[in-house]
Amino acid sequence: GGELALVATPIGNLGDLTRRAADYLQAADCIACEDSRVTLRLLQHLGLKKPLIVYHDHNAEEMRPQLMERLQRGEKMALVSDAGTPLISDPGFKLVRAAAAAGIRVTALPGPSAPIMALILSGLPSDRFLFLGFLPPRSTARRGELAEVAQVRASLILFETAPRLVDALEDLLAVLGDRPAAVARELTKMFEEVRRGPLSELAAHYREAGPPRGEIVLVVGPPAAAVPADAADLDAALGAALAKMR
Ligand code: SAM
Repeated sequence: GGELALVATPIGNLGDLTRRAADYLQAADCIACEDSRVTLRLLQHLGLKKPLIVYHDHNAEEMRPQLMERLQRGEKMALVSDAGTPLISDPGFKLVRAAAAAGIRVTALPGPSAPIMALILSGLPSDRFLFLGFLPPRSTARRGELAEVAQVRASLILFETAPRLVDALEDLLAVLGDRPAAVARELTKMFEEVRRGPLSELAAHYREAGPPRGEIVLVVGPPAAAVPADAADLDAALGAALAKMR
């Protein structure tokens, strides 16, 4: 029967393509991709030629029936995005939903994903996190969305473009307060950099230095109260709460 495989591809360093991913791309009948030029470059690197079907946010409704028809015909299909893990701020979830509903086998070949790599390099709590994707480009809308998550006891992960980095850091500072944070840039590439510090320092740094180059993930620590308390702190807090109840 047909099979849909969600295949992760590198986020910069071609060495991060897994052996399983390469084997699957070779064995697949067709590859659904976002930008055919980007995927062609990857296939060239692997010495492969495959039918490509362009599937992105703007043609998904129109293309999904064709993809489903191929799967139902018994084809093995790989879904890739331009970089990283498909479906993570990239197209695919409706195709997965449709394939699963039609009883088609869906599997994933895991690999690089920029938000997870940024989180684990940030030095911020990684036990609970909320991935926000891209926030709205306009400051008012961005502050509104941040206000909605300000109380969440988790690290926040978000994407931002280099030209908007300073504005975004200033909005984060204004809405969330001066939390610890990290700017992760050009991950897995030659100029990979992770800058860690309070939001105020990061904003000041990039205001001074000017917008950095390249692709960026921002990670912001949880609100101060969410920092795991040690046993003594817990005892004191419990004591105070009990005293109030008497
Ligand atoms: N599906 C992808 C993944 O799993 O990593 C994310 C796709 S999203 C459309 C693209 C955004 O991811 C970029 O704008 C940037 O914020 C982030 N990104 C992708 N590659 C990156 C890299 N090498 N370094 C830093 N951020 C990266």
